[in-house]
Amino acid sequence: MSEAAIAAQLAAAELAGDSPELDAELLLADLLGVSRTYLATWPERELSAAEQAAYRERLARRRSGEPVAYILGEQGFWTLQLGCDASTLIPRPETELLVEQALGLALPARAAVVDLGTGSGAIALALASERPAWQLLAVDAQPAAVALAERNRARCQLDNVTLLVSDWFAELGGRQFDLIVSNPPYIDSGDPHLSRGDLRFEPHSALVAGPDGLAGLRQIIGAAPRHLNAGGWLLVEHGYHQAEPVAALFTAAGFGGVQGCRDLNGVPRTTLGQWR
Ligand code: GLN
Repeated sequence: MSEAAIAAQLAAAELAGDSPELDAELLLADLLGVSRTYLATWPERELSAAEQAAYRERLARRRSGEPVAYILGEQGFWTLQLGCDASTLIPRPETELLVEQALGLALPARAAVVDLGTGSGAIALALASERPAWQLLAVDAQPAAVALAERNRARCQLDNVTLLVSDWFAELGGRQFDLIVSNPPYIDSGDPHLSRGDLRFEPHSALVAGPDGLAGLRQIIGAAPRHLNAGGWLLVEHGYHQAEPVAALFTAAGFGGVQGCRDLNGVPRTTLGQWR
């Protein structure tokens, strides 16, 4: 077994989290600028003193709970590799469901789409990469998030996305869209998960939305009709226990065809509705 693999295994033994071995391999492979396959394929590879020191430093950060994505400074989402830092939520695989659903909607070829609370830009950039003719606007209330999303846009070379600092629709005047997507904060402020795992390191503003977790969703759903063309869609991600209240908010706002969808784990995850 390679020095590298041994180092990874030793590290895994000491790391917390759901996937310590994978985490250790990712941190080491990235440090050496090689793939995980390389670690397994080159048993003679030895770590220099400098590499060992740098690896130890990364492991210490991970042991203190810092998310792997923040240590690596990037995270895969959809087909894209996105820069990621503590100014935004780390893109989650569950959120790819929302991208898939948006791509499945009946929309004009040159659809105007807005992503509210874009964070790293993940949703908007994934949609832009699949639909070069769509015009995407991605907004976030946090300037640091917008700056990160702009770097990700440039990195992915996507010209059909515009970034803007805006608290939901606040800076959008009377602009109307064919599709509004959002993965807003939706965790309630008393949720014990907030003091566990990666969530401890992510910005509260991206996670927490009032005592019932619905504050952001309420604002978005209530204001969406004024910003949708006839026949346009609103598609949001929400918490596993929020499908019913979210559907009720859609209906109260006048949306038709309201539909919830479960993610690959069978957990209620998104709701969509059409403005007619
Ligand atoms: N799905 C995330 C989590 O529970 C929360 C994301 C969000 O609030 N939008 O970790």
